[in-house]
Parts: sequence; C-alpha cells; structure tokens
Amino acid sequence: MSVNLLDYDAEGMLALMAQFGEKPFRGKQLMKWVHQRGESDFAAMTDIAKSFREKLQAGAMVTAPAMLAEQVASDGTHKWLLDVGVGNGVETVFIPEDDRGTLCVSSQVGCALECTFCSTARQGFNRNLSTAEIIGQLWWANQRLSHEAARIGSAQGGVQNADARIVSNVVMMGMGEPLANYENVVRALRLMLDDNAYGLSRRRVTLSTSGLVPAMDRLRDDCPVALAVSLHASNDRLRDEIVPINKKYPIKELLAACNRYLDKAPRDFVTFEYIMLEGINDQPEHARELLEIAKQVSCKFNLIPFNPFPNSGYNRSSRDAILRFRDVLAEGGQVVTVRKTRGDDIDAACGQLAGQVKDRTRRTARQSQIQTVHFHRGEAED
Ligand code: SAH
Repeated sequence: MSVNLLDYDAEGMLALMAQFGEKPFRGKQLMKWVHQRGESDFAAMTDIAKSFREKLQAGAMVTAPAMLAEQVASDGTHKWLLDVGVGNGVETVFIPEDDRGTLCVSSQVGCALECTFCSTARQGFNRNLSTAEIIGQLWWANQRLSHEAARIGSAQGGVQNADARIVSNVVMMGMGEPLANYENVVRALRLMLDDNAYGLSRRRVTLSTSGLVPAMDRLRDDCPVALAVSLHASNDRLRDEIVPINKKYPIKELLAACNRYLDKAPRDFVTFEYIMLEGINDQPEHARELLEIAKQVSCKFNLIPFNPFPNSGYNRSSRDAILRFRDVLAEGGQVVTVRKTRGDDIDAACGQLAGQVKDRTRRTARQSQIQTVHFHRGEAED
C-alpha cells in the first residue's frame, strides 16, 4: 500500500506520522517539501533522516495528476488539462491581473447539477476528485508558473518582473459543485490555507456554490472561506428553471444560509454571481427583484456575461442590457461588477470548462516534455 502525500492535510499528516512511528514535526517538514518546494522525490529531502526517507520510498508517493496539455491565451490566461483517469480530464485556469494571480480550480469530473446554461452540466457527473487531484491543480500551477518566471527572468537578463504570475488567490469555480464533494474539498481548502503548504489567507480563497444549504452550514463551521453563490435568477420560478437545485433549496432558504455563513466568514458579504442570459433574466425588473433580495443579506453582485458553447440554446445579453442592469443595481445602492471575460480564445472562460481529453499523445507527467501551445486572438484551437 502506498499513500499519496498530496491527500493529507495537517491533521491527516499527524496521524500518518504516528503510523510511520515518526515525530509530529516531520509532517510539517514533509508538507513544506511537497507543497512549497514542489518536491516529489524523497531522496532530495535532505533534512529528513535517511531511515525515514527509505520508509517513505517504500510506502508513500507524491503524485499529482499528469498534465496532458498547457495552453496560454493572448491575454496571459493559462489553461491546464490534467489527466484524472481513463479518457477523463479536468481543467484548471490561471488568470493574471495587475495585482493578483487567480487560479480557478475544479472539484469534480463533470457535475451532477443540471444548470441549463453550463457546459460542465452537459457532460453529466463522472466522479469526485480526490484531495490530491484538487490540490494537485495548485501544485502544478505553482510549478509551471515558477518554471516560466525563471525562464522569463533569464531571458530578461535576470530581471524578474512577474508579480502577477504567482497564485495569490484561489477560486473554487472550475468544473463541478465543490460542496457536493465536501470532504475532499475541505481537506484541499485547509492545505491552501496552511502556512506549511500554500499559506493563502481565507479572504483570498473563494468557494462558489450553486447553493447546497446543509453543506454551506458545515463549511461555516469546518473551514470558512470567502463565499460566492451562483444566484443567477431573481425569483424562484426562474431559478427553479435554470438552477434546478433551487427546487430543493429555494431562495429564501439560501439567503438564510448565507446569513448564517456570514457570522463566521472572513468577509462580511457574499458575492452573488449572476449570469446574463439574453431575454431570460436580464431585464430591469429582474434587477429590481435583486434589490429586494439584497435587503436581506449583505452582498455584492458579479454579473457574468454568458459564455456560449455549442447548442447551449442561450445568447449572451447585449452590452447595453448588461450596463442597464448594472445601473439599476448600482442606483439601488448595491456594489456591482461585470466580470471580464478572460481566456476566451482557449475556451477557458466560465462555464466553458469541459475537460475533454483531445489528444492523448500529449500525455506525459514529465514537466520538461509538456507542450505549451500559445494562442493569439483569431487563431483556431484545433
Ligand atoms: N458549481 C459551482 C461552481 C462552478 S463556478 C457553482 O455553481 O457556483 C462556475 C461559475 O460559472 C458559476 O457561477 C456558474 O454558474 C457560471 N457559469 C456556468 N456556465 C456558464 C456560462 N456558460 N457562462 C458564464 N458563466 C457560467
């Protein structure tokens, strides 16, 4: 039996050290090697006693999912396709901005929820990702970005101008419903926050949910991080239709859960994501209904222009409709932003992550062999 160290948060690591007959601090040392230095070869972990390294070699491993492909969009967005088993891939997206670098992490292969506007939903549900497969996305992103920074640095005569090129923020907004894979996601969140691993602040780790009310309550107690909720509709009739989990947890219950969550959350507001679907939910009267919702919970709105995919049956709202909608919310005293679409030339935008394994010949676990494909606007992908 061989255990994968990427599956263990601090608590699990303590128990594992006991099983190995080692002192607790060895677990912290190992976490630093694995997560901060990205080391997977026990022989290289020089401050760990040789006898323990031998035990690790025999009974443990550090294995992130193999990387199948890396794409870089003209706006600097990166997309990685990771192998999670026969014919399956999950996608992770890195979005560089001026002052931060945000990694969008997937939690499941496919998704069991049937939101009508989402391409991941079209695939149906395949399986939950393990903690190693979730944290492995951050592990890989750090490796690839530091590899790139080193390369750019040397090309520029050693000048490193790459501050936005590290993962400073994580959003659980990739494929899947994170709260439907609760245990594995929480272990991965704890690693993101752990000073011996990635050391991100709770405010910089955001979990997005379609509104699984009981799991929101659990998360508040187990590992409160910033919360985003995929609201997408301003009344139950509409939400029942486009976010069908609403039939189980209608808006009133969802808002109550948000308020309970805010008691312990690192931020004092919930972000409501609201997709802009032409002629469906984008009229001023919908915005006015949202103002009523906003009276019941401290929130910010993030309007997401719909990102099309084949046979979706929806269109993106016009720029004018989005701005009008935004203005109604803003004039009603709400904080509202319109999400910039990033990485659309590599299908890396929200709701477009499909994770198909397009070309298995690219399969490799060896960093030096990963093929990076750079895209520029107007170029076709395939
Ligand atoms: N299941 C979670 C995590 C997914 S997050 C959730 O529902 O929140 C991905 C975000 O992108 C969600 O707000 C989702 O509703 C939104 N989204 C899905 N499909 C989209 C599309 N085609 N265009 C724009 N946003 C989309």
